[in-house]
Amino acid sequence: MTQLQGIGKRACQIRATISEACAQSGRDPQEVLLIGVSKTVDVDAVEQAITAGIHDFGENRPCELARKHDAFPEQRWHFIGNIQSRQLNQVVGRAYLIHSLWDRDHASRIDRLAAAAGVIQDVLIEVNDGEDNKQGLDPRDLWPMLEHCATLPHLRVRGLMIMAPAHDPQRARQTFASLACLRDETAHRLVALGADNIALDELSMGMTDDYPLAILEGATMVRVGRALFSEDS
Ligand SMILES: *Cc1c(COP(=O)(O)O)cnc(C)c1O
Repeated sequence: MTQLQGIGKRACQIRATISEACAQSGRDPQEVLLIGVSKTVDVDAVEQAITAGIHDFGENRPCELARKHDAFPEQRWHFIGNIQSRQLNQVVGRAYLIHSLWDRDHASRIDRLAAAAGVIQDVLIEVNDGEDNKQGLDPRDLWPMLEHCATLPHLRVRGLMIMAPAHDPQRARQTFASLACLRDETAHRLVALGADNIALDELSMGMTDDYPLAILEGATMVRVGRALFSEDS
């Protein structure tokens, strides 16, 4: 029970931190969506988070996303995990937004699944931080990827996502700043693409250890797990 009550309290603290970071950077807190990363908790904790006013949840495993989505279909479920072709059918149509797309073949497959389901699937393109992460595409490959996505009518690109290096706030902040910069440069050239299914308004960046920094650099979505769901954070 205390853990569950704790979720409400921690949600308040996170919102206060978000507001503070917004005040520091002259932004409106309404511009920043708090996604509760529920990958380590079960449906009772999700229910408490809903009571605390959180309606966006992040999952990194397709089967868990499907299970929790089907338990709470009114909430918005974000897929933030490693994409595997075989499991995409569980994600497409259920996910409000797929944050972790960076492979062309996966893009084509999402498009086909979305077409079959009669939906448009919203996605973000995950960019690599150039360090230890294997996931995400090289910033230089972003444009060709967008050109490819422009040919997929059941896909809608809404922005970019990144995972920053852990345990190094300074490098994390630089990573966020470069993603915002890449977004600005690329958004400038989007007219040349003439694609109405590509926009780069969203920046999904920042987790428990670094979301205030991500907000200072322009995050529009923060993915917070431990700070919301774990007792000792
Ligand atoms: C687990 C996870 C998070 C949340 O991490 P915390 O440190 O618990 O806030 C955010 N994004 C991705 C992609 C994750 O896998």
